[in-house]
Amino acid sequence: MTAVVIVGGGAMGAALAWTLVSDPGFDGAVTVLERDPTYATASTTLSAAGIRTQFSAPENIRLSRYGWRFLERAGDLLGVDVGLRERGYLTLASDPATLRANHAVQIAEGASVALLTPEALAARFPWLSVEGVALGALGLKEEGWFDAATLLQGWRASAIRRGARFETAEATGFHRDGDRVVAVETTDGRVFPCAVAANCAGPWAGRVAAWAGVTLPVRPGKRTVFHFLCREAAEAAAESPLVVDVSGVWMRPEGAGFIAGVSPAPEADPEAADFDPEWALFEERIWPALATRAPCFEAVRVVRAWAGWYEMNDWDANALLGPAPGAPNLLHAAGFSGHGVQQAAGAARVLADRIVHGRSLTISAEALSADRFAKGRRVRERAVI
Ligand SMILES: Cc1cc2nc3c(=O)[nH]c(=O)nc-3n(C[C@H](O)[C@H](O)[C@H](O)COP(=O)(O)OP(=O)(O)OC[C@H]3O[C@@H](n4cnc5c(N)ncnc54)[C@H](O)[C@@H]3O)c2cc1C
Repeated sequence: MTAVVIVGGGAMGAALAWTLVSDPGFDGAVTVLERDPTYATASTTLSAAGIRTQFSAPENIRLSRYGWRFLERAGDLLGVDVGLRERGYLTLASDPATLRANHAVQIAEGASVALLTPEALAARFPWLSVEGVALGALGLKEEGWFDAATLLQGWRASAIRRGARFETAEATGFHRDGDRVVAVETTDGRVFPCAVAANCAGPWAGRVAAWAGVTLPVRPGKRTVFHFLCREAAEAAAESPLVVDVSGVWMRPEGAGFIAGVSPAPEADPEAADFDPEWALFEERIWPALATRAPCFEAVRVVRAWAGWYEMNDWDANALLGPAPGAPNLLHAAGFSGHGVQQAAGAARVLADRIVHGRSLTISAEALSADRFAKGRRVRERAVI
């Protein structure tokens, strides 16, 4: 019987637990070690929970499309309503060549994305200014947003009903036999023997990997999300897709208002140390970009803001899946760099296939193997938000 111990019970760990115990070919036992069952600082619950097909790497499109199909069936599979909204992403670009190149990959992968000229954008979204926009890409299917906290609780509760154990415990290290991880130890002195260990520790995955001597290039990067109201924007609120502006600022409707954020340039993205929102970002970068793009956002009122940690993969800003050199039975699902909650179902399927069948049967995502940084291979993704 294969004992699998998963460090971290956020979206990734809970999805992996659920996928394993739901797989008829799996005859093992699954234990998830999660130090905080309230998930107060987990990326999953602090996420913007968007899902898109607008990536440039085929593997990302495959993982997210798998995620969409899973979300559509979450009611049947998990017994929860994840509030899936098919509203699309609208990516605005000043450089049409990149958007066209990405679009060709998306279409080849079966995604449904339309390219819109500035004239077509103005006709379809009259509240948007197309100044400085050369081309837009609008997802017509399989893009939008959902409720990540409900999805997480659905995975967790359903996995427990199907036999997985979730322990409230902080893992502190591995017991090893040669290069193999044979047990996980926790702060309360317990030891959990395993045949396979999984690193699903999100922004903390770099630390967990280090216990096995693996230098995983994953570190936390702070991202602030602002929730604001805008009286002038009622129509936009009702109809808007998630808009990614040429400036990199994104916004989408949320309840009676909107949420928005922006990522820093890689050279200005230090390792995160706290969860304090970066309030100045709204005045300095987000509001000017929004008001330029949509004049209705001239007058807005910020009602709250929160900060969470992206699990940044400094090697190439994409998922690291499976074992890395030096620890063959420690499987990572880490480094998603801001697109992980939509890919959790797919990433869990990839790892579960590997555990149960020894290889990926369902999704072709070998290029995202966690050993690629050691081999000098990168997966280029031009659409990191
Ligand atoms: C502001 C923000 C916006 C985002 N927007 C999107 C988006 O729109 N779409 C999208 O797809 N993704 C988005 N993401 C990214 C997404 O949230 C993450 O990729 C995803 O949630 C990662 O899931 P995870 O389970 O790996 O990590 P987490 O949810 O962080 O879970 C990791 C868990 O591991 C636990 N843990 C860590 N170390 C230990 C230990 N030693 N022992 C026990 N437990 C431990 C932690 O307590 C935590 O609960 C966003 C993230 C942020 C911060």
